[in-house]
Amino acid sequence: MSQDLIAALAAIVGEANVLTAEADTAAYFTDWRKQYRARAECVVRPALTEEVAAVVRHCAQAAVAIVPQGGNTGLSGGSVPSGARREIVLSLARLNRIRALDPLNDTITVEAGCVLANVQRAAVEAGRFFPLSLAAEGSCQIGGNLSTNAGGVNVLRFGNAREQVLGLEVVLPDGRVWNGLRALRKDNTGYDLKQLFIGAEGTLGVITAAVLKLQPQPDAIVASWIAVPDPARAVELLALLRARLGDRLTAFEIVSRPCLEAVLAHARDTRDPLGNVHPWYVLAEASDAGPFEALAAKVEQALDKALEGGMGLDATIAHSHARSAALWRLREMIPEAQFTNVKHDIAVAVSQIPAFIERAGRALEVAFPGAAVWCFGHVGDGNLHYNVGDAALLAERPRVNRIVYDIVASLGGSISAEHGLGQLKREEITRHKDALELELMRALKRALDPQGLMNPGKVL
Ligand SMILES: Cc1cc2nc3c(=O)[nH]c(=O)nc-3n(C[C@H](O)[C@H](O)[C@H](O)COP(=O)(O)OP(=O)(O)OC[C@H]3O[C@@H](n4cnc5c(N)ncnc54)[C@H](O)[C@@H]3O)c2cc1C
Repeated sequence: MSQDLIAALAAIVGEANVLTAEADTAAYFTDWRKQYRARAECVVRPALTEEVAAVVRHCAQAAVAIVPQGGNTGLSGGSVPSGARREIVLSLARLNRIRALDPLNDTITVEAGCVLANVQRAAVEAGRFFPLSLAAEGSCQIGGNLSTNAGGVNVLRFGNAREQVLGLEVVLPDGRVWNGLRALRKDNTGYDLKQLFIGAEGTLGVITAAVLKLQPQPDAIVASWIAVPDPARAVELLALLRARLGDRLTAFEIVSRPCLEAVLAHARDTRDPLGNVHPWYVLAEASDAGPFEALAAKVEQALDKALEGGMGLDATIAHSHARSAALWRLREMIPEAQFTNVKHDIAVAVSQIPAFIERAGRALEVAFPGAAVWCFGHVGDGNLHYNVGDAALLAERPRVNRIVYDIVASLGGSISAEHGLGQLKREEITRHKDALELELMRALKRALDPQGLMNPGKVL
């Protein structure tokens, strides 16, 4: 640990905001899944964009690498040190002001360290709605959401994090600040630079603030829990609900029976919403302006049709906020309830979801007879979290991955739908991306970060 570096950084952010003691830094050096742990020189906690810029400038001069960190809920090991060189963790947590909210332009300008749930709350207080929503929303931060181009449960209707952004402020790897905080819905003045930093996982610069789009606040939200016989019927049900509800359908999540059972065993305050045992479930949500009863009636009619057509086996609609929250809890607890196994976050075309589940299940059963499969996720976006086995299977991770990813590739899919590459998939992606695509990515990295100081060992 270099005392000169610590002193220089303390001069910028104050001594109290440069953490070096093991007890203070441990949580920053370990990822959420506790798969990656490595030390850095220190954790630096700036509170202003100018402080971020000064820290980055100093690190660039001292050739010290920077690992930007938001809520540290990322699932690919992108937010913790690589341990391969001199690094600092740059925590954005104190850069957490809401700078402006413009109700007539339907925009909110927030700093990178704002916790997602606080941004959602600020929107509600202004009579608006910020649609990005994921189970980690109580601790993940906007900077992390944009850097991973987070998905979540409302992508079906509102798109990924990328679609919520109008402008960005970024500290570049040499410490200069790019002020792209435009609140414009139309701006065709050359390359759309903000898109480079969204989804870059901190490898091209530090996002310090963003202008985000707001939406009208819905009057009514109707969640329903539907038992379906198999994934093929789930996909047909999606088509039917979209045809009947149109853009009112905001979320469409699939949950396999083993996932539900894991949650029921893990969280005492949960219960099976339906009387009988079924192999698959869908959690669907619709929202609209106007009275709850009107929307609930529309959803009920659509579900009657689905049950008549064999797309559903049984269904229940939440008629209260508490009931709706209980249904969502069943979905949101799944990551915790099946914590240690071989994880995948894949995407295929929605129409290929049944083929993927069928082929992957069959191939894994041949290779690893009896291995459990935990399959759930954002089927409305073609995105499944497909986790296999338990701790004992971790040693076989490369073989499991090869089986799953080869099937994904044969279906024209992606090995990382919403969690990014981080350290976890940095090697694997080279098998899947076209050589030209990788060359262009490396050229961009070199152009923006010639010293390779931004989040080394991640993505590329
Ligand atoms: C229970 C649970 C459920 C989840 N569900 C979903 C889900 O439904 N959809 C989904 O997409 N993800 C999900 N995630 C993953 C995770 O929450 C998201 O990736 C989230 O966007 C990460 O935000 P964060 O602030 O925690 O970022 P971090 O984990 O701190 O960082 C993630 C990456 O972004 C970089 N980064 C962070 N802040 C900045 C910044 N200001 N500037 C530049 N780079 C930065 C980091 O270096 C790292 O590479 C889930 C995670 C958990 C634990």
